[in-house]
Amino acid sequence: APGLYIVATPIGNLNDITLRAVDVLKRCDAVACEDTRVTGKLMRHLGLSKPLWRYDDHTDARNRARLIESMGTRAVALVSDAGTPLISDPGYQLVNAAREAGIYIQTIPGPCAAIAAITLAGLPSDRFLFAGFLPVKEKARADMLAELGGIDATLLFYESAGRLTKALAAIGVALPGRRVGVARELTKIHEECRVDTPAALIAHYEAKPPKGEIVLLVEPPEEQEASEEDVDRMLREALATDKP
Ligand code: SAM
Repeated sequence: APGLYIVATPIGNLNDITLRAVDVLKRCDAVACEDTRVTGKLMRHLGLSKPLWRYDDHTDARNRARLIESMGTRAVALVSDAGTPLISDPGYQLVNAAREAGIYIQTIPGPCAAIAAITLAGLPSDRFLFAGFLPVKEKARADMLAELGGIDATLLFYESAGRLTKALAAIGVALPGRRVGVARELTKIHEECRVDTPAALIAHYEAKPPKGEIVLLVEPPEEQEASEEDVDRMLREALATDKP
């Protein structure tokens, strides 16, 4: 059926594609993608050939409108270079515009590096906050860590290998005492996940500079235990208010 199909693709291991994703890519009329070379490779791997249209969030409004218009009569699949579209990847503007235009939209869920990382690290997974890429600039990075530091949840960030040790140092300063997870090259041959103090991780990665793609995880703040003084004060207050 005509419309917009948001299709998740592998984050490394090419076998990580759902049967439904393959089916949609087989049936669609065109594939909107970030990089036609990257998506061309995936399509060849699947034995498929479709028109590939370049799309990202910098695509101007006129071309986006044209793409939306074509969805009235054609099935257009949206993919990104890897993983789930819209997750630190283009697509938000397109889905928003498609929804406003009343276009039929379907999502075909699948791999996502952040979700893969939270399943692997062994840090609390009941509450987590995905915050996209850590800012590159030192001040912006420190501000973001300070802003998120008080939240009772495991924090997840995307980070590049080249900036890993700097990011670890910043986390060590902004959120002292918390263990950090480094999930690297997920689903690939050199998949690795280490959970340790920032200092230990920095020592490890300075000796062996990391390559590839990385998800950083930060454990939640420790629950504040009430001090004896607090308990005394709470008791006094409770007794005072209970008096007739
Ligand atoms: N849309 C993608 C998803 O669903 O995960 C994320 C796209 S974002 C532009 C790319 C970043 O995701 C990388 O810099 C890295 O932080 C993370 N990433 C992607 N693939 C990964 C992998 N196989 N292992 C670890 N991190 C990965």
